[in-house]
Amino acid sequence: MSVKAQRTVPIPLTVPDDRVADLHATYDPYQHCQNRTVEWCWPDQPKQPDDLTTSKGDAEDALYHDLRETTDYTLNANLVQKAIKDAVGAVGSCKTSWKNGDRISKPVFEDHDDASYTMTYDKRAATYHRYKASFAVVNGAPVECQYELPEDLTGTPYERYVLDARWSFSTSKLVYDGERFWLHAVMKRRYAEDPAYPPASDGSDTQEDFTRVLGVDLNVNGYSAVTSAGGFHGNADYLNHRRAEYEALRGELQQAGTRSAHRRLQSRQGVEWAWFDQYAHDVANSIVADAVRVRATHVVFETLTRIRTRISNAPKFQQWLFRRTQEYVEYKLEEFGISFEQVGSYHTSQACSRTDCDCVDEANRNDTHFECVECGYTLNADLNAAKNIGLKFLDELPTSHTCSSGKATSQLALVSGTLTPSGKTSRMDWESTDKPHPQRASGVRRARAK
Ligand SMILES: [Zn+2]
Repeated sequence: MSVKAQRTVPIPLTVPDDRVADLHATYDPYQHCQNRTVEWCWPDQPKQPDDLTTSKGDAEDALYHDLRETTDYTLNANLVQKAIKDAVGAVGSCKTSWKNGDRISKPVFEDHDDASYTMTYDKRAATYHRYKASFAVVNGAPVECQYELPEDLTGTPYERYVLDARWSFSTSKLVYDGERFWLHAVMKRRYAEDPAYPPASDGSDTQEDFTRVLGVDLNVNGYSAVTSAGGFHGNADYLNHRRAEYEALRGELQQAGTRSAHRRLQSRQGVEWAWFDQYAHDVANSIVADAVRVRATHVVFETLTRIRTRISNAPKFQQWLFRRTQEYVEYKLEEFGISFEQVGSYHTSQACSRTDCDCVDEANRNDTHFECVECGYTLNADLNAAKNIGLKFLDELPTSHTCSSGKATSQLALVSGTLTPSGKTSRMDWESTDKPHPQRASGVRRARAK
């Protein structure tokens, strides 16, 4: 295993005089997206913390298209997403404070004339260099800003983290403090036995141009999670069985109606939720371990809304579990500097995942077996879905990341190698595991409440 470290380095920016207005103008639609998101997350007169919605995926599903329309497509798509994420994060902080008994009020993102502001730029909306950065804006070309550096850099955080090639830029923040602009550069570094990360096959890849995706399919039967790299995790059948037993016990105790039965039910309920929570934790850990093993830069799930639509009869506790699992994965990936992503993918289980075949047919899937009626491709059905989810994300990347010329490389991590969106495969450049193929789902691995 390896560890990731992260440092934030504030750097004052020199903005060309004639472009200051463009940066400010970009915050107008950004702020609009933030405030609209808060309105969506925050019902009229919420009565308890859980009345506040804090799912980034759900907010994005509900608002993204509308916000792109209303901002006239001038605001960079990644900035729309980041504005939604920032706002959901602000609501999440309120929710936590409220749960801790603090007084809270609805967050409001102010106009730039009145106050300071922050915009989050990932590496698709900004380009980060060692001496300068450029930021996508609503008017004209990206604004290029030089870093304003002291004469003597010795020992500065700038020297230690920004100039040191072992650290690389991650999603960072453009901050206006009311007087001037700053880049709060988020620098990440991975400490590993193998320092060559990501693999530089022809010596030209840099981390910023390199995308390797791990697709993840979540299920209510069989394995709870299947990754495109052939990870089969959790046992949803056992989960359903355990839940059914609990429901039966609950029925009995409720019928008994005595005070002792009520107490027993309450304590048992706590044990059940702790067990499911631990289960989500374990599945999340296994997914993250897969991502680290194959050196993924991105882990991609279906949005929860998509999963709900696809599995419309999924029981409530399974939906809760999916959400929990995704939250744990997102949280754990941060320490490795791997991005968490969601796609609103369609036909993930019926579409053929061969990149040169576009067959979508219900007949392709027969329980756990996938066999394309057009090209004859066969594989595990969940693995096929996980591949489709990863490929969907690569599809949506800007072309600079997917073109075969130039330095940009993008790949999907598979069981024994990688695949590019254009169908080029490579042998794996990571350690194989003992169990690359699905094992029988018997018992539940490592899923016990502490
Ligand atoms: Zn096919």
